[in-house]
Amino acid sequence: MADGKAAQAFDIAIIGGGLVGASLALRLTQVLPSKRIGLFEKSDLSAILRATGSSPSFDQRSTALSLSSEAILDTLGIGPVLWAEAAPILAVHVSEQGRWGATRMQAREQGLSHFGHVVPNALIGQGLWQKLAEAPQIRLLSPVSVESLQARETGWQIGLQDGAHFDTRLLVLADGGRSGLLQRLGIAVESQSYGQRAWISNVETRQGTAGWAYERFTKDGAMALLPLSDFEGRPRSALVWTLPEGQDPAPSDLSENQLIQALDERLGLRGGGIARVGSFSSYPLSRSLAREQVRQGLVVLGNAAHALHPIAGQGFNLSLRDVEGLSRFLQSHPDAFRLPELQAYESERQRDQLLTVSSTDALLGFFHSNAGTAARQLRQAGLIGLELVPGIKKQIAEFGMGQGR
Ligand SMILES: Cc1cc2nc3c(=O)[nH]c(=O)nc-3n(C[C@H](O)[C@H](O)[C@H](O)COP(=O)(O)OP(=O)(O)OC[C@H]3O[C@@H](n4cnc5c(N)ncnc54)[C@H](O)[C@@H]3O)c2cc1C
Repeated sequence: MADGKAAQAFDIAIIGGGLVGASLALRLTQVLPSKRIGLFEKSDLSAILRATGSSPSFDQRSTALSLSSEAILDTLGIGPVLWAEAAPILAVHVSEQGRWGATRMQAREQGLSHFGHVVPNALIGQGLWQKLAEAPQIRLLSPVSVESLQARETGWQIGLQDGAHFDTRLLVLADGGRSGLLQRLGIAVESQSYGQRAWISNVETRQGTAGWAYERFTKDGAMALLPLSDFEGRPRSALVWTLPEGQDPAPSDLSENQLIQALDERLGLRGGGIARVGSFSSYPLSRSLAREQVRQGLVVLGNAAHALHPIAGQGFNLSLRDVEGLSRFLQSHPDAFRLPELQAYESERQRDQLLTVSSTDALLGFFHSNAGTAARQLRQAGLIGLELVPGIKKQIAEFGMGQGR
């Protein structure tokens, strides 16, 4: 879909059409219908639309979406497609291997119908890209690789691998932070490895989880078993299994029987035990934060701006709130692309970002320390509860920032 070497000007260009860039592009078509928008994506979007290919965002993972994300995705018009296929989270169960007791939080006890939904990423990708393909004011460039970014007096020039150039007044970098573009711009990133890797797979449970999201803390790391919609009439869950980096043997080296045994031991037969295990893929875990999220004519979003421990299920949820914040800001200030103006957007988003990052860190700290009684009680909220259960995040962040450390 990349067309020729002709230069073209956009009002807003987004680099990266993953979960975050594609959500922003679609939201901007709603709030700024007269702007010319360009979306540059390295993977082949036509394969994502046909469900025959994947991308770094739209792979075999599933995402736990909070209620606020659901509202945003409904506004984007893709809610009906997602909720028809997704599984609602009705309750959260947090436990620790080798310890008696568990924390149970049920949505209906809090006056809610559910805490959120678990949705396959590929489905979110198809929903977003389908809508984008129908939006007349957006130009989708895929597969193309952005190789250079040059600041200009009135914006930026984008250079592609094939030599084509495009001008834009506002540039949004939503490339996931691994393309090297941030480094080429000299934007420093604070990054810290957790020394762990998340292994994910779809598994079949013997009895199903009836809408419970299980989180289990083991000596090796945290695990989650999240409800998914049934597959061919059989109960299915999304497994996230964090293990030390370099774990030997890795889950991908084990036979299905060995995996079932290892998972049943660790998960304590949640869902009646594991009946079948799908293929595994893995992701190194690190926390990162870009030191600058705005510059003159530039905004950094998504994983490029901040990446968190994934077991907390907060990364995309937080970024979607950034997307909504930026879209609303630009709706009321349609040409506010200068640095002081963009800094106003940045400061509007700062509190939520700090709260989310500090609560994740505080909770991870509690799990790796001999925390006192109050901390132990708070940590029973678990990492999943942090995003999904209203009010917990603030309590934990405040505790973590105060005497809890
Ligand atoms: C195991 C795991 C489980 C997770 N579970 C949850 C969860 O339950 N809930 C939640 O909220 N979050 C979750 N997250 C976090 C969530 O996946 C991320 O927040 C999200 O993927 C970030 O999306 P992104 O669009 O910023 O980046 P990415 O997903 O990395 O997408 C970046 C896009 O940019 C494109 N790109 C890169 N370089 C270029 C270039 N030079 N030119 C053009 N295009 C380019 C890539 O092809 C890609 O499509 C999880 C993460 C992991 C690892």
